[in-house]
Amino acid sequence: MTTAPIHIPPALLQQLQPVQGFDEQRFLEAHTRPAVTSVRLHPVKHTSRFEASAKVPWCNTGRYLLERPVFTLDPLYHAGAYYVQEASSMFLHHMLTSLLPDRDNLRVLDLCAAPGGKSTLIASLLGKNSLLLSNEVIRSRASILEENMTRWGYMNTWVCSNDPRDIGKVKGFFDVIVVDAPCSGSGLFRKDARALDEWSEANVQLCSERQHRILADVWPALKENGMLIYATCSYSPQEDEQVLDWVATNFEAKSLAVDIDSNWGVVPVLSNQHMQGYRFFPGKVNGEGFFIAAFQKQSAEAELRVPKFKSQHDKKAYEQSAYLLDEKEFLCIKTSDTEFSALMPAHEADLNILKQFVYLRRTGLPLGAPAAKEWLPFHDVALGIDRAAGIPYIDVNKEAALRFLKKEDMQIDNAPKGWLLVQYEGLGLGWVKSLGNRFNNYLPKHWRIRMDISDADWA
Ligand code: SAM
Repeated sequence: MTTAPIHIPPALLQQLQPVQGFDEQRFLEAHTRPAVTSVRLHPVKHTSRFEASAKVPWCNTGRYLLERPVFTLDPLYHAGAYYVQEASSMFLHHMLTSLLPDRDNLRVLDLCAAPGGKSTLIASLLGKNSLLLSNEVIRSRASILEENMTRWGYMNTWVCSNDPRDIGKVKGFFDVIVVDAPCSGSGLFRKDARALDEWSEANVQLCSERQHRILADVWPALKENGMLIYATCSYSPQEDEQVLDWVATNFEAKSLAVDIDSNWGVVPVLSNQHMQGYRFFPGKVNGEGFFIAAFQKQSAEAELRVPKFKSQHDKKAYEQSAYLLDEKEFLCIKTSDTEFSALMPAHEADLNILKQFVYLRRTGLPLGAPAAKEWLPFHDVALGIDRAAGIPYIDVNKEAALRFLKKEDMQIDNAPKGWLLVQYEGLGLGWVKSLGNRFNNYLPKHWRIRMDISDADWA
């Protein structure tokens, strides 16, 4: 299939001439074809959706789709069975699995995390005693990030909304930092017409200066021997190889390389200062434009002291809520006047360190709140991978699932009274409270599907 050719700015083509592996003819030809659609499957929330589709070669859970479905009309999308993610950027999976064979007991920061593509990928690869802090500086985007992380369902993924400078104050804390930097976006021209409209040489320059600033601000938060992964969806060397050279000049950093299969079409590139990066050109790979590199910090930071703290584990709230989770080794910590979250015990000290410097929006799995005679369970539990298997549930078909997700009334005969998990193809979608003859729908209002569902294929 071809689409109207995209007019690549001549100044960008000029910037690309000296870049290793750039093939102008293939590049221009690829821009007459539409963007590739791909998803990444949840490693725990198994369904048959997209399982048989062609695999993304560098990520075993990545799948290419032949066409782009209306994801909003698929209840499994809302259940977090998969995340819609651009295929090239899934190369982070290959970087992490190659460079970090042991991924438990790590502290990982995803600095520029919204809407959550890289964070959901990272969460899928970490052991439960590792902690992922997903940060997004722009508040409105942090809400979208939080929603996507809730859908993905991991207790050890926390969300914060801070300027990189504040996170830099948590000195020497993280084992891994991922900086998927804001960039001029040329790699997404096939997906996003705005990126093309907004592209200019001046913006490339502006982005490159901001990338230096972000890296300088966050660098102190990385441990000695810790790893920083830098990525952009820009083709401009000023935002890619030249940023690596800037790192080599300004920090003590050792470049890290991974093995790649030559059939993948990924182009390994070396910067002037011999820093290794990987370029993705549509036409060579089955994906969009992307750049990624990893390096290791070779200098130490003054050690951060863990402040003295008394455990805030609330035994009474734990006893009331423990039935919700199969994971029993959690701490039940108060997060507001009435609300509690479940935290892995390994992470309470981290909470006490982080909260001195960082505005934390979500710590652990929000469990809910005790009410007069019952526990009011939060939506996060319904979507969480640790949710107890024994919780009463109702199985719904596609039509009822979409009506639930539209926050419409539901009619289900012979349902027991009380809190019920709404399940579609074995995955949780949310809660209803059954009063016998009717249900109260507890889907949070802002999660509601807004589009018309009458066009959905009910099969
Ligand atoms: N990692 C995300 C994913 O995989 O879904 C995409 C991140 S996007 C390329 C870059 C993010 O950086 C945006 O969400 C943007 O709001 C954020 N950002 C913008 N300015 C920033 C700054 N000065 N410091 C840190 N992050 C910034």
